[in-house]
Amino acid sequence: MKVLVINAGSSSLKYQLIDMTNEKVLAKGLAERIGIEGSMLTHQVYNKEGEFKIEKPMKDHTAAMELVSKALLDEEYGVIKSMDEVYAVGHRVLHGGRHFSQSMVINDEVMDAIRENIVLGPLHNPANIMGIEACQRLMPGKPNVSVFDTAFHQTMPEHAYIYALPYEMYEKYGIRKYGFHGTSHKYVSLRAAEILDKPLKELKIITCHLGNGSSIAAVKYGKVVDTSMGLTPLEGLPMGTRSGDIDPAVVTFLMQKENMTAEEMDNYLNKKSGVLGISGVSSDFRDLAQAASEGNKRAKLALDIFVYRVKKYIGAYAAAMGGVDVIVFTAGIGENTPDIRSNSCAGLEFLGVKIDEDKNNTKGQEMDISAPDSKVKVLVIPTNEELMIARETMELVGE
Ligand code: AMP
Repeated sequence: MKVLVINAGSSSLKYQLIDMTNEKVLAKGLAERIGIEGSMLTHQVYNKEGEFKIEKPMKDHTAAMELVSKALLDEEYGVIKSMDEVYAVGHRVLHGGRHFSQSMVINDEVMDAIRENIVLGPLHNPANIMGIEACQRLMPGKPNVSVFDTAFHQTMPEHAYIYALPYEMYEKYGIRKYGFHGTSHKYVSLRAAEILDKPLKELKIITCHLGNGSSIAAVKYGKVVDTSMGLTPLEGLPMGTRSGDIDPAVVTFLMQKENMTAEEMDNYLNKKSGVLGISGVSSDFRDLAQAASEGNKRAKLALDIFVYRVKKYIGAYAAAMGGVDVIVFTAGIGENTPDIRSNSCAGLEFLGVKIDEDKNNTKGQEMDISAPDSKVKVLVIPTNEELMIARETMELVGE
């Protein structure tokens, strides 16, 4: 049984076709520059060297999906004979708002709710909708499932998700903490329990998803009790270009001093801040590490600020859960950067966290990097949001 996983952005569409009998990725790819000149599809096939690049105008997501299906059916680099072989489609949807605490089979009601949440996810939800509609057009009658980035965090208690603003704003606009990267936090916490051969229901886990966007979650006995991102993915850790937590007074101060509109301020905090803003070098941690090793002080400062904040969240979430059994590092930085892991855990011996530096010298693979006498297990687990989406899709519509 094959599941097609779709992650649609405003001008891009990522896909994976997964055979759920063995959870192997048969093919995957990316349609880029949809609706922009120079659109291109890059398609990769399992066990086949290289990439297939198809440059063709794609005026919208439906055109992109048509090209994806052509690639999947192609004689040379295709992996299926007919789109009928696709059993169901799983879609990543950014914002489920208050409506969804789990994945949903898509029907008119679910679509309406995703539309209602556009105010909370103005960049992503419309793109996700375009991806869903393109699949509905191309494969009428095929079950589509939406897997929300926010859903796993919906177990948070009120005291964790309500902001200290007039309560009416929560009632009127739904302003509260929602959290993101839920599919990734869920995948790695389930996997951590599997690796340790312990029931998830008995573990207090802190999951650190550190990538271009970064978030940390406190997963107590299988349920999220707090997470660092908020109403939008801007809150929490400093990120590639996002500020993360700052004093909210900075916003009005800068708007007045620099004559910025609300839209300009939003852009400033989301696209010009974070480690890029601090360093003036790059949003990419590889560039920052390189620059810091060459003596660039602001690049080093950006890295220092990042690990200091990761450490503070770990401490806070250990307090929130009354302890911690496992810390997981995942995503681009978490999986590939020993220094960041080691520096984030340095000084946490009082919590029972001790890393084995030899084991920590690893990239991109599952690894228990804790020292033998560490009370807390520290794991590196490559995330797999696509597989999680495919599994949730099968759980809802599988036979
Ligand atoms: P993501 O958003 O999960 O793709 O993560 C992107 C971030 O991970 C960037 O800041 C990269 O510098 C970092 N990253 C990705 N791959 C590597 C790698 N092989 N080594 C070091 N950092 C990496």
